[in-house]
Amino acid sequence: MPKKSVADLDPRGKAVLVRVDFNVPQDDSGAITDDRRIKMALPTIRSILDRGGKAILMSHLGRPAGKGLEPAFSLAPVAKRLGELLGKPVLLASDTGGADSQAKAKALPAGGVLVLENVRFNKGEKKGDDATYVAGLASLADAYVNDAFGTCHRTEASMHAVPMALKALGKPAVSGFLVEKEIQYLSDAIARPKRPFVAILGGKKVSDKIAVIQNLLSICDHVLIGGAMAYTFSLAQGGRTGKSLVEPDKLDLAKELLAHGNGKLVLPVDTHCADDFSSGANKKIVRAGEIPDGFEGLDIGPETAQKYAGIIRSAGTVVWNGPMGVFEMPPFDAGTKAVADAVADATVKGAITIIGGGDSAAAVEQLGYADKVSHVSTGGGASLEMLEGKAFATVAVLDDK
Ligand code: AMP
Repeated sequence: MPKKSVADLDPRGKAVLVRVDFNVPQDDSGAITDDRRIKMALPTIRSILDRGGKAILMSHLGRPAGKGLEPAFSLAPVAKRLGELLGKPVLLASDTGGADSQAKAKALPAGGVLVLENVRFNKGEKKGDDATYVAGLASLADAYVNDAFGTCHRTEASMHAVPMALKALGKPAVSGFLVEKEIQYLSDAIARPKRPFVAILGGKKVSDKIAVIQNLLSICDHVLIGGAMAYTFSLAQGGRTGKSLVEPDKLDLAKELLAHGNGKLVLPVDTHCADDFSSGANKKIVRAGEIPDGFEGLDIGPETAQKYAGIIRSAGTVVWNGPMGVFEMPPFDAGTKAVADAVADATVKGAITIIGGGDSAAAVEQLGYADKVSHVSTGGGASLEMLEGKAFATVAVLDDK
């Protein structure tokens, strides 16, 4: 069911409580090293301010203990950066829905911006059911917006109980522009894929992606496997994997997926391996399943890269989660690069191409392909859960169109 978005809201003179994902990376001094997550929320925030609304923003940052304010996890640097990006003052409340938030929210003029302190300073946030905490937040606002896609798979209080409380008071709860766009891309791809529908799955472990592989095998035309997870499949087929990263306790599961894959599951035919986890190691290209003792697979081989690129270039829809090798360490970025290049070509030819968040997003950013695909998701865990076919309670709670 499509959900109302911030565009359907009339924010004039209203206090709008927006759950954003300002969980930005910081260096040891607390300086923000990547402000993309703040920038992503700007369209929603500006839309509220430009139409005469007041924006009250809440987010988590890192993993504080939930026992009150911890300076290392304060949103103060985020509020400062947001002020610079918006070109206007941004206030910071020292609590999350408590006395300081109440006073500052009350005094906020139309067009004003208030950032509440880290929601995870409150133990009620993770538990999701602390009535006083939830009521405190809900009392600040006339409307609620969820623009925190990266947190949509977590039913923490600010994501679920708070919009429920506002709705119980007869107030609107809608999605922000980022959440709307993410859900549209990922759910359309799964529900109405242009075929052939090709999934590319890589990364470290099969165990992290079992549910995704199962779901995608039932809807995709081809599921291409790369990364270290390929070696567990290889081991399950009786191959030699040397000292590669494998999950011996997942062999039965790998066998089951191979049997269930009925020709859709595509595995590497060759492997770039090395005798040490370093760029300068002795390297070899070997057939898949023939990794010598003392060597570990660190990337798909060139023949696999070419084979995968061919399948990808003729796709109508591509979803990609997980790198093909250790892309952070050249030359083991070659497989990921070849796949990224093919995904970019498929995009030019009219395919819808979607990169899951987390490491795959980092890989396409690092390799310079982020603006050559249809969509790079901002949520690692959240996009993975969508690819598993799960629905989010945090989105279901929002008002239907
Ligand atoms: P994931 O978080 O499961 O998507 O895994 C991403 C990580 O997997 C990246 O940091 C890659 O360096 C790593 N990776 C990919 N292929 C391999 C491999 N063959 N051996 C070890 N690590 C790998």
